[in-house]
Amino acid sequence: MPAFPLVKIEETLSNDYLQNAVYTSTGRLIVKRKDLVSETVLPDYQELRDQANRIKRHTIDNLDYYLEQLESKVVEHGGKVLWCRDGGEVVDFLVKLAAEKNTNLIVKSKSMVTEEFGMNERLAEHGLEPVETDLGEFIIQLAHEKPYHIVLPALHMTRYQVADLFTEKLGVEREEVIEKQTKIARTVLRQKFLHAGIGITGANFLVAESGAVVMATNEGNGRFTSTAPKVHVVIAGIEKLVPRAKDLATFLKLLARSATGQPLTVYTSFLSGPRRPNEIDGPEEFYLVLLDNGRTKLLADREKRQSLYCIRCGSCLNHCPVYRKIGGHNYPWVYSGPIGSIITPQYQGVMQSPWLPFASSLCGACAEVCPVKIEIPKLLLLLRSDVNKAKEKEHKNWLEHLIFRGWAWLMRHPKLFELGGMMGSAVLTAPEGGGLIRNVLPFFRVGPLKAWIKERDLPPLPEKSFRQLWRERVRVEKH
Ligand code: SF4
Repeated sequence: MPAFPLVKIEETLSNDYLQNAVYTSTGRLIVKRKDLVSETVLPDYQELRDQANRIKRHTIDNLDYYLEQLESKVVEHGGKVLWCRDGGEVVDFLVKLAAEKNTNLIVKSKSMVTEEFGMNERLAEHGLEPVETDLGEFIIQLAHEKPYHIVLPALHMTRYQVADLFTEKLGVEREEVIEKQTKIARTVLRQKFLHAGIGITGANFLVAESGAVVMATNEGNGRFTSTAPKVHVVIAGIEKLVPRAKDLATFLKLLARSATGQPLTVYTSFLSGPRRPNEIDGPEEFYLVLLDNGRTKLLADREKRQSLYCIRCGSCLNHCPVYRKIGGHNYPWVYSGPIGSIITPQYQGVMQSPWLPFASSLCGACAEVCPVKIEIPKLLLLLRSDVNKAKEKEHKNWLEHLIFRGWAWLMRHPKLFELGGMMGSAVLTAPEGGGLIRNVLPFFRVGPLKAWIKERDLPPLPEKSFRQLWRERVRVEKH
């Protein structure tokens, strides 16, 4: 079980540069998104969110039907569909395919699903050379890091760091100007595109009624990856489906706005199978790999399956006060921020990182901005409860268990609760501006609350409780 990464988090918190980079980048995205979903620019924004939620709910509830429909359409267009239970099966397929096609060079566009099972590293173990072609992914592949953010993988790196990295790994002269760095990457990647035998892409959406794979990108590398090599492999999670092409009118409007604050991404590609006889470009072979990797386990949970509605826009990360402080590398898996906190425990088991569902202030900003209206705070609470149940089974923290049992009992007896409050505020008084524990209950300073109290304290109890104030107000209003 990975331990709580306290040291790494403390390092991030004390790194002023990193704090500034994350705050500035996410802040910029917050402003851009806000402008584009405002009442004046997009008056039907909330209806679009409702619609997106309805479509996703319907699709996920009928996933078996739509997956079969998708498969038959892809096959009809000359493509092949592979069903993979996990990343191991995907890697086996790709290794075999590369051997058949006598190639070891693979170009790849950005895809979070392949990060789930460390595809690049696993292919490299088999002597293959997968090359990331999205600029951010290209940078972090050279740096041997995992994405810092779902949408902006190299958000944490400065152009000076990139300059050093390019010089070290590519043997080029040091270049600090971003446009020139892009040119360097383009020169390297152009050769890779021309010589790769296989191109791998992800998919933003899969349209069941037509078998189309939809990719929304900003750099054009997705198009190059899917058309230049002779073989195109799409790897997508089984939840990426939408039933009809017209549903895209809803999702494409929401995706770019929520992700990068654009009305649409620069490129939106619709791909359906290999090149037809009358077409001038496109791959000769087309494979669609549909990956489970824990998704059906999630699907089986009626309450939490809404996590599968996620379209990976990253908006919940940008608005999350926790992500914005601890950044993307302190989460235990490839998905960070609120979406990471709800899907990682469900994919990997809650006891893998039991602290994760608690890494939230439950402020609700994530749910407010989620374009498909996933109830993230509610799911976090359900997962917290799963963690507690699992701990209870293991009899781990009997003290916490006892405290919460007592608390639950008190909450079921409102009269006693109120009486306790009244007695508490009469007895537990602290000096003006002073905290309760440090001044009145010092014995807690050495107990299990020691670490908690180091940084904070309980404010003194107010003279009147909320209930008393409410009763007084009602009384006044009646007269
Ligand atoms: S949970 Fe919602 S806001 Fe977060 S990445 Fe997924 S779709 Fe976007």
